[in-house]
Amino acid sequence: MSKIQMKTPLVEMDGDEMTRVIWQQIKDILITPYIDLKSEYYDLGLENREKTKDQVTFDSAEATKKYGVAVKCATITPNAARMPEYNLSEMWKSPNGTIRAILDGTVFRAPILVKGVTPYIPTWTKPITIARHAYGDVYKNTEMRVEGGSKAELLVTKADGTTEKSLIHQFETDGIIQGLHNIDKSIGSFARACFNYALDTKQDVWFSSKDTISKKYDHRFKDIFAEIFENEYKEKFEKAGIEYFYTLIDDAVARVIRSNGGYIWACKNYDGDVMSDMIATAYGSLAMMTSVLVSPDGVYEYEAAHGTVQRHYYKYLKGEETSTNSVATLFAWTGALRKRGELDELPELMSFADKLEKAIIDTIEGGVMTGDLYLISTLDNKKKVNTTEFLEAVNETLKKML
Ligand code: NAP
Ligand code: MG
Repeated sequence: MSKIQMKTPLVEMDGDEMTRVIWQQIKDILITPYIDLKSEYYDLGLENREKTKDQVTFDSAEATKKYGVAVKCATITPNAARMPEYNLSEMWKSPNGTIRAILDGTVFRAPILVKGVTPYIPTWTKPITIARHAYGDVYKNTEMRVEGGSKAELLVTKADGTTEKSLIHQFETDGIIQGLHNIDKSIGSFARACFNYALDTKQDVWFSSKDTISKKYDHRFKDIFAEIFENEYKEKFEKAGIEYFYTLIDDAVARVIRSNGGYIWACKNYDGDVMSDMIATAYGSLAMMTSVLVSPDGVYEYEAAHGTVQRHYYKYLKGEETSTNSVATLFAWTGALRKRGELDELPELMSFADKLEKAIIDTIEGGVMTGDLYLISTLDNKKKVNTTEFLEAVNETLKKML
């Protein structure tokens, strides 16, 4: 069988620890035997970030802008403990944060469902995709403690020097205040990313906020979404047979619990942070959660939602057997290859991505799985395999399909 040819290189961002080990195995066992892989390789492993003073992260994001599609391995976000471990000269920023800032993207997270792993909400038979706005609000806040007797005011100085003032609170006793902001342009990018992703995946969009209480701030989000939908997307949605609707966040959480899934839930930054953890847990496993960053100009970066699985890596280093789940990282590859195939009009590449995903699901539903799923799966014939054996089992399933 001849290998599938590619036209445009995929931006490949390698990473750290156990996921780096898995990355190489995925390529060796499931990608390069079938595809004449064209990739522009960036090593985002912490050692190379240190060596390049993090320039490699910036370069990889610029390459993603240039080519349009990237696949990323999980990376370490350094903390104090990592400084001596990797002999770091600086506590480098989170690569995901850097890439997100350059691509101005929205992150979409969706669970991969398999038979035998029942969500805690059993009616969730389809995935719920969370779209999290990744700019501003409480993540870019300014806060202060305030002494009793103080008067706190909101003051805006305009470009022409005039000011607008509004009383926050007259403090009788000690307290706290916080200033938040967001930007119309960023909210607009967020709305467009959600609507584009909905058209891409043929799913409805729900957007929720607290506009009844926050009559200017949250209301602005609601208005921008409505305006952009009305002017740019309404007809496209009708044609695709999908819907957009806005609802108060209280109502949204109630509807989400009662739903069957199968839609995109667009959330403000904080809501998305919290709700994506809840949704991931409720679907059963963090290792089965995919993540894609979509920029408003249609650039895609695919990754797994989990981290570098440090604890398993330390076992691996000691020569002990590991049973790390590679599914989310595999789906990052299939997502990126399918998108590359779509953009370059390579049906063979798209079909390979579909088949590989099906082989992964079929393997697990056939009873072969890693330890994390083995613990929660309700299948009778389940069998726990190690990290490499799982990838080899997927390859056996795939070979039968090709
Ligand atoms: P983690 O790598 O997500 O792992 C936390 C725990 O979740 C693991 O110890 C393991 O539980 C379980 N787990 C996660 N993924 C798994 C998988 N694929 N297969 C099996 N079990 C899995 O989070 P962390 O240990 O807190 O973080 C490690 C490093 O990852 C940190 O340096 C952090 O900065 C980085 N991180 C990177 C990203 C990213 O690049 N997108 C995201 C999050 C964290 P058991 O140990 O109980 O088996
Ligand atoms: Mg969180």
